[in-house]
Amino acid sequence: MISVFGSANMDLVAYVAQAPKPGETITGRAFRTIPGGKGANQAIAAARAGAEVAFLGAVGDDAFGPGLRAALAEAGVDTGGLRVVPGPSGVAHIVVQDGGDNSIIVVPGANGAVTGPSPRDAETIGRSDALLLQLELPMDAVVAAARVPGAEVILTPAPAVPLPAELLEAVGLIVPNEHEAAALTGRDDPRDALEALLDLVPEAVVTLGARGALYGSRDGTRLREPAVPVRAVDTTAAGDTFAGALAVARSEGRDPARALRFASAAAALSVQREGASTSMPRRHEIDRLLE
Ligand code: ADP
Repeated sequence: MISVFGSANMDLVAYVAQAPKPGETITGRAFRTIPGGKGANQAIAAARAGAEVAFLGAVGDDAFGPGLRAALAEAGVDTGGLRVVPGPSGVAHIVVQDGGDNSIIVVPGANGAVTGPSPRDAETIGRSDALLLQLELPMDAVVAAARVPGAEVILTPAPAVPLPAELLEAVGLIVPNEHEAAALTGRDDPRDALEALLDLVPEAVVTLGARGALYGSRDGTRLREPAVPVRAVDTTAAGDTFAGALAVARSEGRDPARALRFASAAAALSVQREGASTSMPRRHEIDRLLE
């Protein structure tokens, strides 16, 4: 079983020719509300990839809360640990310009009210094979979840902020993209960043977009997994799909090389479709690509 202690946001996406300047009002072309947040995305990715998944987090008592819960439940995620707190749900206000440039305002809302795992959450984490964490909840809450004994802690360090020692001590595997890896280590070359990450935690994966992913372990193993060559139409949440699928493969006991291949296949399937959670592949699709 996999637990995800993390954020749930409703993405409010307006598609426009050009983003408005301060003081300007423009008419957009289209609007979509899309369930997102790195925590919810990783939970949905892991559930679709075939694991039993529990999501631990919070939504507000507004109109978006039930929609976020429904999106998780529809993917088969257990939402018994999703609290409802007074006030708004987390939202990401996204303006997509023609040509694909985005501007995004994230308002944490209910995510900002999460202080740490409840006793029930801690019990769920304790029975899990893996705990997926990201940094869209308050840092103290993330640290408290990481320190619950039991599950292997897999951290996606996004957004990239300095990581406290109490968090690093509890992390088994860190999974940054190359930009986050550079921000964390000060090393621009991803191979150098990987080595620097292994000074902090026992295992690391640095994802390189269309160039694949690097893996390293303190036992001396180094692997490079090329991306599956596909025509990408939307890379939103590729990293979250990769992390969710990686956790599933590891919880099934796959060795690092096979786990990387499984995660790369899942992410390659997701970039061929639009959207975040809507693009995440199901287990049979991943297995078919790996045949
Ligand atoms: P993030 O979404 O966090 O920025 P990346 O862009 O590094 O993360 O992508 C994560 C993984 O998704 C990559 O390691 C790769 O396996 C897969 N991926 C990303 N972009 C592509 C692509 N264009 N083609 C195939 N696979 C991709």
